[in-house]
Amino acid sequence: MLYFVGAILTIVLVGFVILLIAAILQIVAFFSIPESPPGMGPPPVSGAMAQSPAPGMKFCPSCGAQLAASATFCSKCGAKQP
Ligand SMILES: [Zn+2]
Repeated sequence: MLYFVGAILTIVLVGFVILLIAAILQIVAFFSIPESPPGMGPPPVSGAMAQSPAPGMKFCPSCGAQLAASATFCSKCGAKQP
């Protein structure tokens, strides 16, 4: 009977130590992460700018040139703007 209690206590103790080591490793990893992790870095600006025009700007539906939102005609191909 005492043998089983000792074995169970040993298993519980070893499990607790492993959990403690895992927690310490987690804390160390948390504090060793650089200021900007790869996933949280700034998004690619070039891709974002290609999808939508800048504020106050629009794209020519004929040639795709970026024009002022108030432009009546495209400055590149001369197409009339909607
Ligand atoms: Zn155009």
